[in-house]
Amino acid sequence: MTDEQRRARYLDALGIEQWVRRAMPTELDRVEANFVPPATSTDELDWTALRACVKACERCGLHQTRTQTVFGVGDTEAHWMVVGEAPGAEEDRQGEPFVGAAGQLLTAMLAAIDLPRESVFIANILKCRPPDNRDPRPEEVAECLPYLHRQVSLVRPRIILAFGRVAAQNLLGTDTPLGKLRGAVHRFGALNTPVIVTYHPAYLLRSPGEKRKAWEDLKFARQTYSELLLGA
Ligand code: URA
Repeated sequence: MTDEQRRARYLDALGIEQWVRRAMPTELDRVEANFVPPATSTDELDWTALRACVKACERCGLHQTRTQTVFGVGDTEAHWMVVGEAPGAEEDRQGEPFVGAAGQLLTAMLAAIDLPRESVFIANILKCRPPDNRDPRPEEVAECLPYLHRQVSLVRPRIILAFGRVAAQNLLGTDTPLGKLRGAVHRFGALNTPVIVTYHPAYLLRSPGEKRKAWEDLKFARQTYSELLLGA
């Protein structure tokens, strides 16, 4: 009796069902042998590939409820990059960030520091709209943030303006309240890009009394940018 036959009899006696490997490879074996897992890294992607990757993204459940992804818009060589939270209803419909009521205020805020909307690059932490505009979930941010990292690496902005708590906390990897993050130069990503935080325009629409503080933040950002350019 061979070892194999002894083993088979032993397993049989114990009532253990045996799985016998088929001699000929099955179709599944062949598929498995040829299967190359898709690259999960976005680090090497150019703009075209990154766009395609975001458009087809199903990394989190938000793809099931979105109308379309919202990649980002603007000058891909901009000195200033704007980061918001996530698309809202209007952005989900149009496929462009900050096009609703908050977007109009954002455009005005940028203009106040001599930044035409087209001169900056605008993106969000999430590329898909969370249902009912709920806060992004940590697992959604974790899946989506690599896209923003790659966008920042491609644009190489001199400065990032983070609008609102969600953008600021997720960019900086902190749960420090927004009020405590204001008025300082933070850093983001592999290029150590300077980050200034301020209030989200949607919040300012609900709390217009805070616009004065946002104006202080914008002036601080302008001054920081000028100093960085002088020092460069
Ligand atoms: N709010 C955001 O944070 N981003 C948008 O694109 C629209 C509204």
